[in-house]
Amino acid sequence: MRMISSALRYIADVIDSWNLPARVAPGGDWTVWLVQSSRRKDGKDPLEHRVDLLDYRLPKGGFNGSCNCEHFVFTLDPRVEESIETGVPLRCKHIRRVRGLVVDAVLEKEWETRNWRTKEKR
Ligand SMILES: [Zn+2]
Repeated sequence: MRMISSALRYIADVIDSWNLPARVAPGGDWTVWLVQSSRRKDGKDPLEHRVDLLDYRLPKGGFNGSCNCEHFVFTLDPRVEESIETGVPLRCKHIRRVRGLVVDAVLEKEWETRNWRTKEKR
């Protein structure tokens, strides 16, 4: 379990190094993220949304996740219980974004590992 946590911590660090408007929540573990919203129409500074990847376990495996943005709270969250029964996730763009970043970072780590192996053989 510790190995998995440290590998995922590494992945969160990789994502941090990309300097994107998304980061692991301070003091939290890697499953909770802060994601900047797109620029607001009124020109004010973007909001930061809290995404929890581990919320709402799906029956066939995986997690729906939750977000505190308006779209998730008022439109998706009231329908999540029914979506858990159907197994079709209801995710806002912030949840989808964080999930995509985690996959990208895992692939980045795999790519580095493969390139390292190639260099070792030479
Ligand atoms: Zn959201």
